[in-house]
Amino acid sequence: MSSQLCIHGHFYQPPRENPWLGSVFPESSAAPSPDWNSRILRESYRPLAYARRLDGRGRIVEIMNCYEWMSFNVGPTLNRWMQVNSPDTLKRIVEGDKASVERLGHGNAIAQCYHHVILPLATDEERRLQVAWATADFAGRFGRRPEGMWLSEAAVDTPTLETLAEQGICFTILAPSQAKAVGGLTEPASWTPVTEGILDISRPYRVDLPSGRSVAVFFYDGAISQAVAFERLLSDGESFWRRLSGRAREREGLLSLGTDGETYGHHFTFGEMALAHVLAKAREGEDGVQITNYSAYLAQNPPKERVMLHEPSAWSCAHGVERWASDCGCTNGDHPGWNQKWRAPLRAALRSVKNMLDRHFTEAGARIFRTPAHALLEYGAVLAAPHDEQPRSLFMEQHFLPDVSRRDRDAAWQLLAMQEAGMASFASCAWFFDEISRIEPLNGLTFALRAMELAATTGARVDIEEMLGHLEKAISNKPEEGTGRELFLKRVAPRSITPGKLTLNALCGLCGSGNVPEPGQRVRQAWPEVEVGIEFTADPSKCAPAGQTGAGSVSGALAGECTIKLPLEERGRVFSFSWLPPDKPGLAHPLDTSVVLNSALREDEQPARYVQLDEAKRTCSLIDPCCEGEVVYGRDLPAGARQLLVGQWLTAGQEAINEKADGLTRFLLGFLPTLEIEQHELIWTHLWSVFSVHVLPAVLDNPDLLEYARPYLREFLQAKDFSPRQLELRRRLVISYLQANLSACRPDWQALLRKREALRDFMPDADLWEIQNALWPLRAQCAGNPDAARCFEAYGFASTLGSL
Ligand SMILES: [Zn+2]
Repeated sequence: MSSQLCIHGHFYQPPRENPWLGSVFPESSAAPSPDWNSRILRESYRPLAYARRLDGRGRIVEIMNCYEWMSFNVGPTLNRWMQVNSPDTLKRIVEGDKASVERLGHGNAIAQCYHHVILPLATDEERRLQVAWATADFAGRFGRRPEGMWLSEAAVDTPTLETLAEQGICFTILAPSQAKAVGGLTEPASWTPVTEGILDISRPYRVDLPSGRSVAVFFYDGAISQAVAFERLLSDGESFWRRLSGRAREREGLLSLGTDGETYGHHFTFGEMALAHVLAKAREGEDGVQITNYSAYLAQNPPKERVMLHEPSAWSCAHGVERWASDCGCTNGDHPGWNQKWRAPLRAALRSVKNMLDRHFTEAGARIFRTPAHALLEYGAVLAAPHDEQPRSLFMEQHFLPDVSRRDRDAAWQLLAMQEAGMASFASCAWFFDEISRIEPLNGLTFALRAMELAATTGARVDIEEMLGHLEKAISNKPEEGTGRELFLKRVAPRSITPGKLTLNALCGLCGSGNVPEPGQRVRQAWPEVEVGIEFTADPSKCAPAGQTGAGSVSGALAGECTIKLPLEERGRVFSFSWLPPDKPGLAHPLDTSVVLNSALREDEQPARYVQLDEAKRTCSLIDPCCEGEVVYGRDLPAGARQLLVGQWLTAGQEAINEKADGLTRFLLGFLPTLEIEQHELIWTHLWSVFSVHVLPAVLDNPDLLEYARPYLREFLQAKDFSPRQLELRRRLVISYLQANLSACRPDWQALLRKREALRDFMPDADLWEIQNALWPLRAQCAGNPDAARCFEAYGFASTLGSL
């Protein structure tokens, strides 16, 4: 008797990007990582790509790519973030899917609806768009069409399944509690009511749809999935395996788990190792359990029964999909006395914005696109590869009317970006928790604000008051936060990044990294969602308007021209500016840096409009700040943007210091004489401490040369008076140094061995994780190469690796 195991991980993060830039601003709660995406990448997504399997002595026998052995979906917006911020993790995920296709004929990866919206609460058009964009993103990443799709929060109803079926998606995965009744495939149907305990989850079911199409549904094991999430089942790989194989042996067919990918590593440290242990057991067919994925199982086991679902329903709300629409009482349970009456007005507010966006897209799109709705649906292919010329030109060829002006071609990309931001505002996270002043609802409103600005820029009449009217009815559980209206005015509207703020941000970025260009030389500052081209004119007074405060009125301001455009736009908008840099002598405070921006409208252009806040009157309106010249000071930049700049400057500064200090340290060490007999430590240790992080890379570079100086260098480096932060910096430098040494495809094994020995001596607690990851793909070189085999052993691998 054999049963098959499929462990599914749902990988997703709420959209944290600032919608004007497309970058995630630093979040202090995620420390030591700069933001939560980076933190979960480090704790979960990456460890799963490089999960350790150890022998009894703690040595590595395998670095497993769990994505090769588990079923998974990665949210498209997370894919986009990873593409920029950790392309090698994404590469490993894609490789995992490819390997599973080769093994099983069907891949481990399934798609996920694009913006994680609750599909039963979306319009028909939105549902279609979510599925179409998800499919395009999937095809772009994995090079094949998706067979299955993960529904956000497993939220399902008949229209949702119709949309999946219409677009060729064969199956989805639901919680067992979502099944209402099962029946045979033959007509007339006779239905047997089911509950979670009764439902046979070892097989797929078919949902017959009114259109005549059908979709297959898998139900995961609720009890074990729950235990993985909440009952510390991941604390021990072997007991996890015993629980799974015990359950699997109870009957033939499929045993599948539905889990959040973040459970492994982020919620439970080393959870990825417990998972790898289980996957390895199943891979070896232990206890008669085979490993599979949903697509492969479905291909061999088509549904033999039908299922009727509770509609609408979801995996994390007992009231249909009310958790995302009303005060149903489902929350994370942190604040028992709170209510969620704010949920309905928040949804109404965002819906009123989206309705306006939809009308505007249809009207304004009519002069640009052959069929606006069709163009919107297929825009997902461009989003999947924004830097690829081919999907973009294909899209233009297929969807733009033949005689569209250059101005309208730019407007087209703005309209599409507007709809993207409008859809992102509906990400389910905004309603999931218990309070409207949390980051998730505010992020949703921020995307709506960006969408409204793009609508205004492309000629829509935007009435912010309509949205604010709904938000007035959304009352925070925290009296000091007031209503949604106040939250929008106080916390959301100031996030808007106007052309002036963007230009100042770009200029400060150049300044802090020492890249301010010479007059006449053009430089570009780019973020995922916007680009700024900057060129200084030779004559600083040329662009300074008379009578302006800020940069314009102060002598020595730098003048120039900037172009702001979305990445897909051809022309963008041109402005003249004058800038007072933060490092200008005589400036009282760096935040007095300022920019005066004037729009240089072309004849065929309309002014761009941005949100302006009148705090006294508690109102918000859309204005074109540049028609009359926008003046922006450093202190006007959003806090997150300033944090991001500080991060950029620190990184650039550190790199510059490294380069200098590395060379100097090598030179110093080379001149160091042997110790006097009575001498026990370095002389001038207070000065050496400045170079302490650079000593180790220098020692690693030439361990033999420094034989005589070892004892006191070791004592110096292991002294207790280095702070954990200094040690962290040293650790990072050593890692990047060793990685650089490994980048050759045939590394110098003997040199790597000597470095390892030196590392043992000077930094016994060195973290070899990344180095081991880089070594692992080279393991085939161990065969017949004793140096390579010794090297692997020295870096923590089991000695049997050489004989693999
Ligand atoms: Zn509920």
